[in-house]
Amino acid sequence: MHSFDMQTAPLETADLIVARPEGLYCPPGGFYIDPWRPVERAVITHAHSDHARFGHRHYLVAQSGIGVLLSRLPGIDVQAIAYGERVTINGVTVSLHPAGHVLGSSQVRVEHAGRVWVASGDYKLDPDPTCAAFEPVRCDTFITESTFGLPIYRWDPPQTIFDGIDAWWRHNAAQGRASVVFCYAFGKAQRLLASIDAGIGPIFCHGAVEPLNREYRAAGVALPPVRLVSEIPAKEKALFKGALIVAPPSAQGSTWLRRFGDYSDAFASGWMRLRGARRRRGVDRGFVLSDHADWPQLQTAIRSTGASRVIVTHGQVEPMVRWLREQGLQAGAFVTEYGDDPVEADAVGADGANAPRTVASATDPGARIDADTAFASQVDP
Ligand SMILES: [Zn+2]
Ligand SMILES: [Zn+2]
Repeated sequence: MHSFDMQTAPLETADLIVARPEGLYCPPGGFYIDPWRPVERAVITHAHSDHARFGHRHYLVAQSGIGVLLSRLPGIDVQAIAYGERVTINGVTVSLHPAGHVLGSSQVRVEHAGRVWVASGDYKLDPDPTCAAFEPVRCDTFITESTFGLPIYRWDPPQTIFDGIDAWWRHNAAQGRASVVFCYAFGKAQRLLASIDAGIGPIFCHGAVEPLNREYRAAGVALPPVRLVSEIPAKEKALFKGALIVAPPSAQGSTWLRRFGDYSDAFASGWMRLRGARRRRGVDRGFVLSDHADWPQLQTAIRSTGASRVIVTHGQVEPMVRWLREQGLQAGAFVTEYGDDPVEADAVGADGANAPRTVASATDPGARIDADTAFASQVDP
């Protein structure tokens, strides 16, 4: 391990957003973006649990994301604003812009004293009928995720993936088998429901998926009719033959699956791109479907901001920083706690967010350090 002390690095006091032990912080505005420790004022990019946590005094979120946020964090004090609407926090202009990741997901645009920074949260450029499309926002500095920031990550067009899921389901139905697909309960499940051919057969979902479906419908997203698995009495379990069943990763290997009798199972995730992840999952099929940008999309999104400086928050940090520097951009990284969704991280496995990460620091771009060490040495500037 390389030894490196971030405290000796010069502080860039002019930065509009800095990394603090609590989360990403805007010093002139006095607010945090997706903080992982309790703070006074939090701007939330989206309701996945690695970005939206309990314990903050005030929350700010996009209007279309307030339903899912409240369903995950009931009782919080939250203000919602429309995409593009500007609010002023301590003289800093803040607005939210679609990130194309899940319902209500936002990039956070921060403007102060002639400078513009944008924090991306999680994002993708692929079309998704369940949320507003990613909007490029011009800025001086862009803070980006890099979950799939390696050249091996290139997604097929979503329709190709959904055609594959339909063909698998149709084949199973013809054999009198149920089709069980595991995916994130929030975002992926609704995108899948909105995109598959609902005419193939009945659709059921796990109890963890239905509350999110309800919020999506309330926000005006069209989803096909879906019944809860738990509503079907044991004597009617023949209904499951030929059905599609949408379940969270946590249901895999559980006794909950016994009621389906003969079934085929599949996993829908960007990690299915990796043979090792597919094998460990032990499912019949892996569908490569992600709500994150692939490598070309990350590059397109970053270029479209026009930013001369880019800071990487999570995922494949080092390859991304290296690529950014090759493009002649000023590049660095923030050590964050994003990427390990405590609710749904089991879908990721050892190839993804749980794998050891190395990062380069924003203040000393040449340094390579272990993520755990970096976090421990990162102090409040
Ligand atoms: Zn997310
Ligand atoms: Zn995330």
